Amino acid sequence: MPIRLLSSEVASQIAAGEVIERPASVVKELLENALDAGARSITITIEEAGKKLIEVADDGSGIPSDELELAVARHATSKLIRSADLFSISTLGFRGEALASIGSVSRMTITARVQDEKEGTRLHVEGGKAGQPARVGTTTGTTVRVEDLFYNVPARLKFLKSDVTERRAIDALVTRYALAYPDKRFKLSDGKNVVLQTTGDGDRRAILAALYGVDVARQMLEILSEEEGSALTGFISPTSLTRSNRREITFFINGRWVHDVSLNTALLQAYHTLLMVGRYPLTALFLQIRPEEVDVNVHPAKAEVRFRNQDNIFSFVQRSVRKTLLAYSPVPNVAPSLWGTTRTVPAEPPRHTGLDWEIGHQELPVSSESVFSDQSSVPSQGSEIVNRKSEVASIPLLRLIGQIGATYLVAEGPDGLYLIDQHAAHERVLFEKLMTQHTMKNIPAQALLTPAVVTLPPHSANLLISNLPILQHLGFDVEEFGPNTFQVRAMPALFMGSDPSAALRALVEDFEEDESPLQNELEARLAARVCKRMAVKAGQALSNEEQRALLIDLEACDSPRTCPHGRPTMIHLSVDMLERQFGRRGAR
Ligand code: ADP
Ligand code: MG
Repeated sequence: MPIRLLSSEVASQIAAGEVIERPASVVKELLENALDAGARSITITIEEAGKKLIEVADDGSGIPSDELELAVARHATSKLIRSADLFSISTLGFRGEALASIGSVSRMTITARVQDEKEGTRLHVEGGKAGQPARVGTTTGTTVRVEDLFYNVPARLKFLKSDVTERRAIDALVTRYALAYPDKRFKLSDGKNVVLQTTGDGDRRAILAALYGVDVARQMLEILSEEEGSALTGFISPTSLTRSNRREITFFINGRWVHDVSLNTALLQAYHTLLMVGRYPLTALFLQIRPEEVDVNVHPAKAEVRFRNQDNIFSFVQRSVRKTLLAYSPVPNVAPSLWGTTRTVPAEPPRHTGLDWEIGHQELPVSSESVFSDQSSVPSQGSEIVNRKSEVASIPLLRLIGQIGATYLVAEGPDGLYLIDQHAAHERVLFEKLMTQHTMKNIPAQALLTPAVVTLPPHSANLLISNLPILQHLGFDVEEFGPNTFQVRAMPALFMGSDPSAALRALVEDFEEDESPLQNELEARLAARVCKRMAVKAGQALSNEEQRALLIDLEACDSPRTCPHGRPTMIHLSVDMLERQFGRRGAR
């Protein structure tokens, strides 16, 4: 093929591909424009995850009628004149590409009016072709309406993920900008519901509460750290509040949401040794540095930056976070107890330390005996199950000796001593019971006298809604109870007495891990996670009855030697080994 110049249409679609990858990219560019225009209030409306419609309306400066046509041209910007300005950028935009790009891959209508003009102007752009500007009556500000995104780039459309995923990207984006700009009013709605609404009163903790629920917001630690020309503000989670993925780690640099590996590393190093392996903090951190310290022109969608002096920034972030963590939570909590995080629990001290199924959960008819002897389980744990077990994995019948450190059970078997981790063991027991019931499609559910009400961040709420049937399979009766809020009305009888909202949060976390694993695999993984959360913790004193019941249940498990996540439930000190250790072997 001979060399040819690309038609302007193809060229602009190629260029648009760099900036506009998915509906959330459109939302991001339009939000940035509104913020740059000094808007106080920004209203975002989406339909069909932004594929059908994205509209962003602001009350900012507007665009003069004689500049509107220019605004949609490529490389047209009011924010940059000389290339030297690139290194002192104080606006979010500067490339002059967003409106042109969006206009070339959608049907876009801009309506704008500046304060000192009596009327506004409207311009329609379709597939990169602008129509005639028309005068219209409107208020000061700008509204950009983007319909049928990628209608003329079918290949792009095919690359879009499910509505749930695209929608989640938009929700996550808008919530982060709302957090970053607490003095602006944000409203996000999807045509039917208002997904997020902030008041613009500058209260970041209130926005956190709207996103994560009051409990989480209350626990978040505020950071305020300053050092010659740099400032780090925002919130980090205490070590007791974690997630199983990095998705809730957020960094803004000079008002721009960025993904920066080195900042993430600095953050995680600050948490080092304070978190369990595989757990990550939640953060909303806002770094302010001199514009000349950061190069924002390294990524077409401006999602990455480069620092002039990376080491300085890195250690500033690391030190600030560490200091805050240590100031607020000097001792890592070795015995987290569910009752401390349950909304329904009165603040009075527990009657017996650690027995969280006995205190505070009045909404459940609590059995007077033991948490382990659940009345629900299908086959009573008897010899027929023991016979079924494979020889290798099984454990012999054990005689309970007692509990040490409120964490381990000590037991004697025909072949020596067994030290059993009560948390891991209980996790295993719950998991096998739940999976047996699940396989038999009969998970006895226990209705809660007072349903537990849980508020989730919008994107988690969305995921939960689309996964409600799976929860049903697992014995949870959950229903929507208002925007981003859910009611747990029943849960598996197996978990009776435990905190239903903790269970729900454990489940939702796992949806976020992975979107489309096989249904069965997902359900098993969800089960494992929720069982982990519901299992007794290290540090909880157990009654004799409870210790014994746990041992009996564990003996009946198919794989009693590991927890569902693969960690050992027990350590075995054989008679043989004891004899050798005490020098009895050699002596005889
Ligand atoms: P950039 O933001 O990089 O300048 P855009 O293509 O996003 O490029 O926008 C082009 C220009 O249109 C901006 O420089 C600005 O002057 C104007 N503009 C875009 N959106 C708005 C808005 N919401 N309010 C006021 N002016 C806007
Ligand atoms: Mg812009």
